Amino acid sequence: MITIRLKPGRERALNNRHPWIFSGAIADVEGQALPGQVVRVAGSRGDGLAVGYHNPNSQIAVRILSWDPEAQIDGAFLRLALERAIARRRTLPGLARTNARRLVNAESDGLPGLIVDQYGEWVVLQSLTAGIDRLKDDLAHLLMELLQPAGVFERSDADVRPREGLAPAVGSLLGAIPPDTVMLEENGRSFAVDLVNGHKTGFYLDQRDSRVRVAAYCQDATVLNVFSYTGGFGVYAATAGAAHVVNLDSSAEVLALAERNMALNHVSADRAESIVGDAFAVLRTMRDQARRFDLIVLDPPKFAFSRAQLNSALRGYKDINLQALHLLRPGGILATFSCSGAVDESLFQKVVFEAALDAGRDVQVLERLSQASDHPILLSFPEAQYLKGLICRVG
Ligand code: SAH
Repeated sequence: MITIRLKPGRERALNNRHPWIFSGAIADVEGQALPGQVVRVAGSRGDGLAVGYHNPNSQIAVRILSWDPEAQIDGAFLRLALERAIARRRTLPGLARTNARRLVNAESDGLPGLIVDQYGEWVVLQSLTAGIDRLKDDLAHLLMELLQPAGVFERSDADVRPREGLAPAVGSLLGAIPPDTVMLEENGRSFAVDLVNGHKTGFYLDQRDSRVRVAAYCQDATVLNVFSYTGGFGVYAATAGAAHVVNLDSSAEVLALAERNMALNHVSADRAESIVGDAFAVLRTMRDQARRFDLIVLDPPKFAFSRAQLNSALRGYKDINLQALHLLRPGGILATFSCSGAVDESLFQKVVFEAALDAGRDVQVLERLSQASDHPILLSFPEAQYLKGLICRVG
């Protein structure tokens, strides 16, 4: 195995069990490691510390797979890691009433760069790194053996792949190809999900627990679901007793699936409405029309892909929250989210506060939300937390 030696004083992150080594921490690479190749990591004096995979094309030069410097990354190693991740989901209370779950959440499950989601009889694998790309066929066979799905489908088209020097890869790895839509059951609701072309691996599984929390405020409410995608929050709101639900998204295609999902859950057409348009513009138009809502969900796409985009992202979050606050009746509920990793919880709360000041509304935080429990955050890897939300009452 090739050994990568760290610069003096650069072992600290590893001592804290942080699974990333940045390129600037490396003193030398003994031999030539190909992108994704498994390497041993040694301290500055040559003492073995860990085993990981290397990518000379990435700023994150090594991701740790094992803290045992003698570990072999073979089929038995991968099988054990997958078995452990799968077993951890078996007892999660949030997963008791769903057939779709995240089985492997990358670094937080000890398998950096690997996402595995299960939707009923289908498994979707997402590789984010060159290291996982090299292992993905072995991983697909192991998943087939452990879970016996109808197929293992690859959705390696996430936005982070170019940073690893990787092109998107989408297609079947093993078994059958999923049909146009697959049925997902979640907390008594049904959703048609497009695993091949949908966002992420098809559905925002990370918002499962938040959908439950938000639904609890929806009885008799007039609800505006902004950035609705295929209607996740909208379906929960309607089935929890909302009087009227508007799903708003810039994509007509996802709204068509949202309408199908509302119908699947027996929400009559007179209680549901779809609006195609740019949320920033549509919310302004609604203000001009004096439209009012009892509850607004704001679940925008990632605005900040890096720290460089932080300021413009914050302006975006502030503006959309401000526009929503203008549309809420006194006593109304704002459920507002950010999935930008670069915006942490306290910064996000500050942005909502600034929007509240500008809107001249008093806002109370009732609940703080995070990603669902099958997307755990390893304490030694706080970067795993990207999703945060606030349920607020607006005075
Ligand atoms: N709340 C959803 C996930 C939202 S994903 C769920 O729980 O399933 C973000 C959505 O925002 C995507 O569907 C995307 O099409 C939409 N979107 C992106 N930019 C937009 C804009 N400017 N106006 C309206 N919708 C937008």
